[in-house]
Amino acid sequence: MKIIVLIKQVPDTAQLSANMNGLQLMASGPRIINPWDEYAIEEGLKLREAHGGSVTLLCLGTPDAVETLKRGLAMGADEAVLISDPQLAGGDSLATARALAAAIEKIGAYDLVIAGRSSIDGGNFATAVQVAALLAAAQLSYVAAIKAIDPAAKTITVERLMEAGRETVSSKLPAVMTVVKEINEPRYPSFMQIRKAAKKDVPVWSVADLGLDAGQVGAAGSQVKWSQIDLPPTREAQVEILEGTAEESAKALVDRLLAEKII
Ligand SMILES: Cc1cc2nc3c(=O)[nH]c(=O)nc-3n(C[C@H](O)[C@H](O)[C@H](O)COP(=O)(O)OP(=O)(O)OC[C@H]3O[C@@H](n4cnc5c(N)ncnc54)[C@H](O)[C@@H]3O)c2cc1C
Repeated sequence: MKIIVLIKQVPDTAQLSANMNGLQLMASGPRIINPWDEYAIEEGLKLREAHGGSVTLLCLGTPDAVETLKRGLAMGADEAVLISDPQLAGGDSLATARALAAAIEKIGAYDLVIAGRSSIDGGNFATAVQVAALLAAAQLSYVAAIKAIDPAAKTITVERLMEAGRETVSSKLPAVMTVVKEINEPRYPSFMQIRKAAKKDVPVWSVADLGLDAGQVGAAGSQVKWSQIDLPPTREAQVEILEGTAEESAKALVDRLLAEKII
């Protein structure tokens, strides 16, 4: 099976602080792999282990997003491609999807594209859906389990997580699928895998490499413009230190939690 996994580099929300400007944080704060996308990589690796083939990671981002791709390579992906070009800046989800879809077409015949259910920053839940539409591929969202897949017959049956239950759907391949965290438990790369991945080459494709022109991508190719991002206001909190021995303070803590009806 030829599997392509879409992964996004996102701001590390654990590093948020109240005096940060949201737009600056989006553009330049500390970065991590979008947590939902680790489930997408894991599912790609499991499918390759079961059916053979390859897993290619694809990311559109700034040049430092190569580190995100190397994290995915360390988990076990075969290869990675970074789409990076100053012309991509300020793109909305459709402009981003246009570049991703062009890169998928450049990679060539694929069976399955896997993405996370959403990013933790933009959170449009839209990019993968738009990629599917642009590729005219089947779209399977909120997948919590793959029930059956037949690469030869080019069919897939999945379970989708709904608000009140699960839905089983079947589709033809190629398809674009978004996954939820119920689907698997992402593996941790070993130290040796991280070192090996650090040495791998990651090709960088520009807008021109994708056969697109500047007016189709980035701010120029977008309809939705972000003007401001405000971080949540800081919450006032009170801190109380419980004095005494470990036993005394544990008892006092339990009494307080009971009194506050927390336990
Ligand atoms: C500095 C900055 C300025 C921006 N300005 C604007 C703006 O003016 N208008 C606007 O509408 N948006 C803007 N964006 C947001 C940008 O368009 C989105 O981050 C992008 O389109 C992806 O959408 P999303 O984050 O909502 O992902 P979702 O649609 O929630 O992501 C779903 C899944 O799609 C895949 N995916 C998403 N993005 C990528 C990617 N880049 N590479 C690989 N896979 C991906 C991942 O698997 C992800 O889990 C800006 C972002 C930045 C960093």
